[in-house]
Amino acid sequence: MAPSLSIPVVAWYREHARSLPWRAEGFTPWGVLVSEIMLQQTPVARVIPRLEQWLARWPNPDALASDSPAEAVRAWDRLGYPRRALNLHAAAVVISVQHGGEVPHEVDALLALPGIGDYTARAVASFAYGVRAPVVDVNTRRVIARAVHGHGAAGPARTRADLADMEALLPEDAADARLMNAGLMELGQVVCIARAPRCDVCPLAALCAWRAAGYPEYDGPPAPRQARFEGSDRQVRGLIMRELRHAPSRVPAEVVETLWPDAVQRERALAGLLADGLATGSREAGYGLPGS
Ligand code: SF4
Repeated sequence: MAPSLSIPVVAWYREHARSLPWRAEGFTPWGVLVSEIMLQQTPVARVIPRLEQWLARWPNPDALASDSPAEAVRAWDRLGYPRRALNLHAAAVVISVQHGGEVPHEVDALLALPGIGDYTARAVASFAYGVRAPVVDVNTRRVIARAVHGHGAAGPARTRADLADMEALLPEDAADARLMNAGLMELGQVVCIARAPRCDVCPLAALCAWRAAGYPEYDGPPAPRQARFEGSDRQVRGLIMRELRHAPSRVPAEVVETLWPDAVQRERALAGLLADGLATGSREAGYGLPGS
C-alpha cells in the first residue's frame, strides 16, 4: 500500500473538484443524505433539479416525516428505483422521532436507519460531519485496483477488503481524510474512467501500478452486469408506478392491464410493487400509492 497517494489526490481535488450542490459551504447533513441516496443509481445531471425541488419542499427530516410516503414517492418522479423514496421517508421518520430531527453523526447510527447501507452511512458521516471513515464506491474501487494493485478493473465488490484498502490510503487528519474520500471518487468519475483512463492528466500517473506495468489486460472475475432495462420487470414496474403517481385517485385493475401486454410479467411486477410497499390496493379496490 502507498499512503502517499493521498497527497497528490487531495491536492488535485482541491484544485479540480467540480462545483456540485452537495459540496457547497453550508449544505446541510440532511441535504447530503438525500443527495447520496438519489445519486446511488441516478446520474448527477438528473439528480440536481430533483434534489433542489425536494429540499425546497422538505428542508429537513421533520418536514418530510410529517408528509405522507405517497408524496415522497410522487416527488421522486422518474429518478428510478422508487423504493429509495419510501426508505428516505422512513429514515426521516426515525430521525425525527429518535434523533430530535438531526441526522446522526456516527456510522453505526446511520446504518440503523431504514434503507441506509454501508456506503451511504460512511458517505454521510465523512462528507456531512467530517468523521474519519473510509468511503468506497465503484469509482474508488477502480482507481485503487489500478493505481495500487496494478489491475485494469476492480472485479466484484468485496466490502471488507475494499474498506481495508481505502483505510490504508486515508490520511490521519479527518479533514484530509474527507478530501481523500471525495477526491478518489472524483478521480474515478472524471479521469480514471472505466473504458478510457486519462492518464495524461492524472495526478497519480507517476505512482500508478497498472500504468507502470504497461496496462496488462484484466483477467480476474468480472463485476456483475446490470440487466437490460428494455423488456425487464423494472420497466413494467416503472410504467405502473408512473400511472399511480399521476392518477388523482385509485387506478382500476382494468387500466393497469392496458400498461403491458404480457399478463404474467405485468402481474409479477404489480405483485412486487405491492410486496415492496410501493403500491397498495387490490383488484377489486384498484391500486394507489402507499398511504394515499
Ligand atoms: S494513471 Fe491512468 S490508470 Fe492509473 S490511476 Fe491515473 S488514470 Fe487511472
